Amino acid sequence: MLENLTITQTHDGLVKKEFSCLELAKAFLDKIEKLDKKIFAFLTLTPDLALSQSKAVDDLISQGREIPILAGIPLAVKDIIMVDGVRCTAASKVLENYIAPYDATVIKKLKSQGAVFLGKTNLDEFAMGASTENSAFGITRNPHDLSRVPGGSSGGSAAAVAAGFSVYALGSDTGGSIRQPASFCGIVGLKPTYGAVSRYGLIAMASSLDQIGPITRTAADARIVFEAISGKDEKDSTSVESKIKDLGFKIKDLRIGVPEEYFIKGMDPDVEKSVKNAIKKLEDAGAKIVDVSLPNNTENALAAYYIIMPSEVSANLARYDGMKYGYSAVGNQQSAISNLSDVYLQSRGQGFGKEVRRRIMLGTYVLSAGYYEAYYLQAQKVRTKIIDDFSKAFQAADVIVTPTAPTPAFKLGEKSKKSLDMYLADIFVTAVNLAGLPALSLPCGKTANGLPIGLQFIGKQFEERKILELGEFFEKL
Ligand code: GLN
Repeated sequence: MLENLTITQTHDGLVKKEFSCLELAKAFLDKIEKLDKKIFAFLTLTPDLALSQSKAVDDLISQGREIPILAGIPLAVKDIIMVDGVRCTAASKVLENYIAPYDATVIKKLKSQGAVFLGKTNLDEFAMGASTENSAFGITRNPHDLSRVPGGSSGGSAAAVAAGFSVYALGSDTGGSIRQPASFCGIVGLKPTYGAVSRYGLIAMASSLDQIGPITRTAADARIVFEAISGKDEKDSTSVESKIKDLGFKIKDLRIGVPEEYFIKGMDPDVEKSVKNAIKKLEDAGAKIVDVSLPNNTENALAAYYIIMPSEVSANLARYDGMKYGYSAVGNQQSAISNLSDVYLQSRGQGFGKEVRRRIMLGTYVLSAGYYEAYYLQAQKVRTKIIDDFSKAFQAADVIVTPTAPTPAFKLGEKSKKSLDMYLADIFVTAVNLAGLPALSLPCGKTANGLPIGLQFIGKQFEERKILELGEFFEKL
């Protein structure tokens, strides 16, 4: 099965001429064509782009040239990252017909390696959600169980990798959107340190939290993709070059912190068992397990996140005004348009989905005079406390381990009626974004009814390589 290989295995197969890039791309496109009707991972396919990129790499191989590790390897891209000339919707009616006018920096970097772009994947509208049920174009289903959600907001990307529709994918993570769907779909997801990867060409949700990262089958694959897309970019002033390269990983020297706050009442017993079992395995392999405390992490982080994130959302999404680009309302007899204000109100009212409107209203409210101090300022103080808690914990531990989510993938429709229930799905993932840290989610077992469970490794800033090496080590165990 060509479609279930890792990046390294696919690269080897290409170099040894066991199959050509063109064959590979066609195998994936055929599979998507046949099976994506049930899953709906993709919003847009780019077969012309994929085939021309494959041909170019096949030419290099037939000339006997050495190829970069990602050359000829098919990937899927979350439809909130721009690929020049390809529709980019952010799963919103507002951008339904928007054609990206340039490549995001991550795309440019992957193109320079000869990567093969299969298409753009479904997501919660503007990346707001934890189930991919908030897309304006339809829901994505979990390949492990079609009656369940794939997680979100990068649910299309995670489902694409889990279903064998692409070797790897790109997602974005503002409050868990790479890690939580990776955990629900039984694959690997890396949220890099804030600033490690350029955000240029990523449609903004909450700019102080957003990061692009890889969704892959293995930790080794995540490392390859991370290395290809990271680094300073002059087009994103918050991006930096990490000076930390390899840290000389030795399991016996590693102190792994376990925060008690992450084993909460009401979490799924299979998840708890599986994560504790994983920690035991690491201990048996020689790691030192230490108790750490992150007192502001779980509930306070979630509360702060749901103040700070909507505040930034309300500012970032002000640009969709029905004038500059995107959906513009045309008046009719029921709702006539007679002035500029009508254009704004109707375009935004009709273009944005419910969850997006809810967050814009919430953000506008908490930023308004009189409420700013009570909510936004307070949330920023909590954010500082969370950063402090992590700094303290990282004095005692090199890496922190937690579950990625309190439950496995839930049923479609189970949480979409009550936003608070849905927000609680993010309880273990948002603190990492507020503190700007890197974190990796990888599979650590299954529930009694066969649903994947995810384990999260949180690292110090710019220590992606340490959590990735630990991930590779854990996979071998
Ligand atoms: N589930 C979170 C939210 O709804 C995560 C979003 C994200 O990381 N893009 O905000």
